[in-house]
Amino acid sequence: MNITRQLLRLKASLPDKVTLVAVSKFHPVEALQEAYQAGQRVFGESRAQELTAKQKVLPGDIQWHFIGPLQSNKVKEIAPFIAMIQSVDSLKLLQEIDKQAAKNGRTIRVLLEIRIAQEETKHGLSCEECRALLDHPLLPDLKNIQICGLMGMATYTEDTAQITREFQGLKAFFDELKNSYFKNSDDFTELSMGMSYDYPLAIQEGSTLIRVGTFIFGEREY
Ligand SMILES: *Cc1c(COP(=O)(O)O)cnc(C)c1O
Repeated sequence: MNITRQLLRLKASLPDKVTLVAVSKFHPVEALQEAYQAGQRVFGESRAQELTAKQKVLPGDIQWHFIGPLQSNKVKEIAPFIAMIQSVDSLKLLQEIDKQAAKNGRTIRVLLEIRIAQEETKHGLSCEECRALLDHPLLPDLKNIQICGLMGMATYTEDTAQITREFQGLKAFFDELKNSYFKNSDDFTELSMGMSYDYPLAIQEGSTLIRVGTFIFGEREY
């Protein structure tokens, strides 16, 4: 895999307002170093232990995004440095992030993960669950988190019409929340959708953050 070439090719094709999160999970430090040399500064990882190990040895100006399922007891490992946690799907997790952020004297930016795919998946909130979370009386107590938007993953399918529908649904929900719960806030600006196989569709439908791994780094070896 020519990481530099793939990365530069991808970046050249992106509109200015779209941020690329280079998803480096399961790839070795050397691969991240090559992407860093080519100018990439935003990386996404999905396991706390792996992320922490990489963060220790890579440059301090990298912005790390957490994009995978996160157990509450792992939050303290990443709280000192994480730039954004994209995969928040419960009040319990938000409370733990707030607590650990406070301990580190930081505010941690988060996205709420919404379940948009038809596939069976345990992760993400339904729209209803998301509204219930935003209505929760304890939410205003969480002073050390900043809810910056939504994240979602479309169904893994060749049916581009279905993927498009799912992204449109997420964008519509994002707009609904922005005009209701976040009317008086400047924080709610990010819509994270699009991966290697569907990011062009996601951008068309209003994504501001794409999370691309395989296209840059090649296949992952699990
Ligand atoms: C692994 C992962 C990606 C990247 O997937 P690719 O198909 O390799 O681009 C994006 N988002 C999430 C949530 C992931 O877990």
